Amino acid sequence: MSELPLIDPFARAISYLRVSVTDRCDFRCAYCMTEHMTFLPKAELLTLEELDRLCSNFIALGVEKLRITGGEPLVRKGIMTFFDSMSRHLQSGALQELTLTTNGSQLRKYAKDLAACGVKRINVSLDTLDDKKFAEITRWGRLGQVLDGIEAAKEAGLQVKINAVALKGFNEDELFTLTAWCAAANHDLTFIEVMPMGDMGEAQRIDQYWPLKDLRARLATRYSLEDLPDRTGGPARYVRLAETGQRVGFITPLTHNFCESCNRVRLTCTGELYMCLGQEDMADLRAPLRASPDNAALRQAIRRAIARKPKGHDFDYTRQVVKGQMTRHMSHTGG
Ligand code: SAM
Repeated sequence: MSELPLIDPFARAISYLRVSVTDRCDFRCAYCMTEHMTFLPKAELLTLEELDRLCSNFIALGVEKLRITGGEPLVRKGIMTFFDSMSRHLQSGALQELTLTTNGSQLRKYAKDLAACGVKRINVSLDTLDDKKFAEITRWGRLGQVLDGIEAAKEAGLQVKINAVALKGFNEDELFTLTAWCAAANHDLTFIEVMPMGDMGEAQRIDQYWPLKDLRARLATRYSLEDLPDRTGGPARYVRLAETGQRVGFITPLTHNFCESCNRVRLTCTGELYMCLGQEDMADLRAPLRASPDNAALRQAIRRAIARKPKGHDFDYTRQVVKGQMTRHMSHTGG
């Protein structure tokens, strides 16, 4: 790296970029999207070349971990050319990890190619192992296709971590089934506390809120939980289950206990950079990107944005004060 790394005003180095490459998805998970979504016009989206240029500039400024997300990243047309192109940064050693979060529906098609691009680990979102419940929560998804995709990923040598949104009254009864299934298949498992998005309706939303501290307490009725010191710079905490040896994570996206170690920023598919998951402030990087082929102005815009990264989240889930705004920016930044 020839330039000074990105350091925010609170002395945190920015080493993790999460990039949404599309707002589109082949599922319509009830807690995430409305059934009849209006997607962005194509001209608004960054092209794959523009995404490449933006990511490459972040990498030149010290980003070492790139997570590709969406929408569903694997439904973006031509997405493998983007992964292929990003793999040059793994080969040069500038990038330590190239990874993605996916719903798994396209993995049978792409797992081998992803592995060939240097992807080693992926996150697959899966909230239930029940066919009917899967169809209900994703509206458009088929469980069999996702399980087959996970199989394909394993065959290709990818390590699969399962992300499950904790939904009271929906997958509460599957806590132990999901955990045992992951243990048997050697998948790490992370539970995500549900955030106020999607179109569940207010009553159902509150009904479905299952605090992870309650989930964790229930898990502890069957397993011995050992806290792990593992830190990723994000809002996840991990335990090991002594009986199975598996790692289980808890992501409470809206708690702000871990902001002091935050190393990440998020880029939307339209080039908006969000410096904090819990705050609305963002910087438009598409304008400087399109204004000139010269990267100097772009890097200056990135640095100016990072200089505005706030110290931490400032909202309270229980009051749901920012529901409307959250819906907009979260669904474009990959959850
Ligand atoms: N399509 C990809 C997938 O399914 O993983 C990537 C995008 S998706 C928005 C990323 C993650 O956000 C998924 O694990 C999803 O379950 C989670 N997510 C979406 N809406 C959420 C919500 N309201 N609360 C908590 N997690 C949510």
